[in-house]
Amino acid sequence: MKGIHDRKALRRKTRRVVAILEQTLGVPRQKKGLPNPLDMLIATILSQNTNDKNSHRAYTSLRKKYRTWGEVARAPKRSVISAIESGGMANQKASRIQEVLYVLHQHYRRYTLFPLKRKNNDEVLSELTSLKGVGVKTAACVLLFSLRRDVFPVDTHVHRVCSRLGLAPGCRTPEQTFDAMKSIVPRRKAYSFHTNLIRFGRKLCRAHNPDCGFCPLYDECTFRGKIRRLNKRKTRSLADHDFMLLDNVRVSRLQPGGIE
Ligand code: SF4
Repeated sequence: MKGIHDRKALRRKTRRVVAILEQTLGVPRQKKGLPNPLDMLIATILSQNTNDKNSHRAYTSLRKKYRTWGEVARAPKRSVISAIESGGMANQKASRIQEVLYVLHQHYRRYTLFPLKRKNNDEVLSELTSLKGVGVKTAACVLLFSLRRDVFPVDTHVHRVCSRLGLAPGCRTPEQTFDAMKSIVPRRKAYSFHTNLIRFGRKLCRAHNPDCGFCPLYDECTFRGKIRRLNKRKTRSLADHDFMLLDNVRVSRLQPGGIE
């Protein structure tokens, strides 16, 4: 029997979900000038386990303190820690950043990730995830937000919402959901879908107390814990968009890539 696990049915359902989110939240557009991949990688490392505002503050402070990534690589670790402490876990993140910069310099003889532009998505994923502390989500963010590839990153929030909607049956981790969603996200919709799912997860489909009464995806949702709708309430406006870090990583004013 062909059930919802059928790939075609999942693709159709995903198309419906993308369309409903675009109707409700709008169609997000990527900015013209994108940050270089190394800036994006460092910003994404800083975004781990904190909110977007704190990690943006940490990233901005790091960029103000050091002119190039080479200066960050050579700085005493305690100095890097003090620059990024507003993002939390500063000790661990400073180590990760300096290690990543060291490995890149060993590999390319420069502080750069520009060579990624010539590589396909799988090659980029493989290269980035070989760096210590860089997972699939971080690598996928670099692909989407810096290289403008049609790749759908899955963090814990996107994983939660995809699971509740029944788009990734049987997937227990964001990594499994990332693999499952590869073949069902409509072409050229990765950016829109990812961005809107983050907004939707923040505003309505929160980890605790999801606001099911207002949910435009109520009929698509397979979550057993969804709160029963007593009345068909109107969808409330969700269009006041939150600040999103990875859309606000500044385009480098240094040489491309902040290279030395
Ligand atoms: S009905 Fe509730 S749990 Fe389901 S997607 Fe909507 S907000 Fe999330």
